[in-house]
Amino acid sequence: MKVSVDQEGCISCGFCVNECPDVFDFNEDDKSYVMKQPDSSEEDSVRDCAEGCPVSVIAVEE
Ligand code: SF4
Repeated sequence: MKVSVDQEGCISCGFCVNECPDVFDFNEDDKSYVMKQPDSSEEDSVRDCAEGCPVSVIAVEE
């Protein structure tokens, strides 16, 4: 799995950062970015983040 965030579209809701704090973090502009690619135990949570992002800017490549 490879995950990425289109930061320009992020509305800083905090969902992904709260759900997967080891994968997503906020940058200086309060936009989410991928701090670390998920390991296998985190993949389901990352899929949930991608599905739950209110502006659908989290992309997952399986
Ligand atoms: S869930 Fe989407 S909008 Fe919310 S912080 Fe994460 S990337 Fe940004």
